[in-house]
Amino acid sequence: MTTLLLSRPPWVDHQTPLWHPERQDRMRAVESALEEESFAWLVREEAAEAALQTLALVHPEPYIQSLIDAAPLEGLVAIDEDTSLSPDTLDAAMRSAGAAVQAVDEVMTGKVRNAFSAMRPPGHHAERAKAMGFCFFNNVSIAARHARKAHGAERIAIVDWDAHHGNGTQDVFWSDASVLFCSTHQMPLYPGTGAASERGEHDTMVNVPLRAGDGGEVFREALEVAVLPRVKAFSPDLILISAGFDAHWRDPLADLELTEADFAWATQQLMDIVFTIGQYNLVSMALNSFGVQADPGLPGFDI
Ligand SMILES: [Zn+2]
Repeated sequence: MTTLLLSRPPWVDHQTPLWHPERQDRMRAVESALEEESFAWLVREEAAEAALQTLALVHPEPYIQSLIDAAPLEGLVAIDEDTSLSPDTLDAAMRSAGAAVQAVDEVMTGKVRNAFSAMRPPGHHAERAKAMGFCFFNNVSIAARHARKAHGAERIAIVDWDAHHGNGTQDVFWSDASVLFCSTHQMPLYPGTGAASERGEHDTMVNVPLRAGDGGEVFREALEVAVLPRVKAFSPDLILISAGFDAHWRDPLADLELTEADFAWATQQLMDIVFTIGQYNLVSMALNSFGVQADPGLPGFDI
């Protein structure tokens, strides 16, 4: 097995206000854990910036330009009450999207068997023309569109187990039958979308709201009943996972009470699905996405 870990160059420092929960300490914690000997086998690369035309696969150019124009030379500029730009933010945001694209490229071309991207800022709240909820560019959506354009993926499934609904991803793919979007999330909770009745123009939006305190048993049942069968039936060429981990019991912003074992179980379920589809590779993008490619030309998955 070859697993790629994508992370930021050390000098990139997207800053948020002092009180803000989405801060650099999160990445420091991830990076420090992944420095342990048990992860020494990971192939490590620094994320490059996504090209402007790649961002434009999802976001209108005037929106991208408006962020460039708003970026400060020093201090912070608030986009909304949760979301602000610092001098390094666009560099970091373009690398978050770039990491997603890079992971897809390396997996789809067979350079690595799977990949994990630990990057910030996150992306799943960013709509086509609206930054919100700590997000500027919708990394998983950009990765999906790139997989389609550059690698000919015809069907892509996105599974989003972040505690919040991926409203941005839903916005991007609402009318796009080539993408199945499945989301488990706490409801009611920010951003307020994600009711089960939201199904998209082609019935490709699968929203599974959970209640505060539901815990791992309910989460696993939700995946088994409502998500995994849909992903399997879709027979995707690529599965991307918006792997936000704020459904963890120690996260202060949500109350889904999941454990590490629940996330591992969910990951294994998706790996098992792909194993039944064919032989495959896996891309994972923490906070952003996680993906599996069916590729009959490659040997079996062996993580
Ligand atoms: Zn979240």
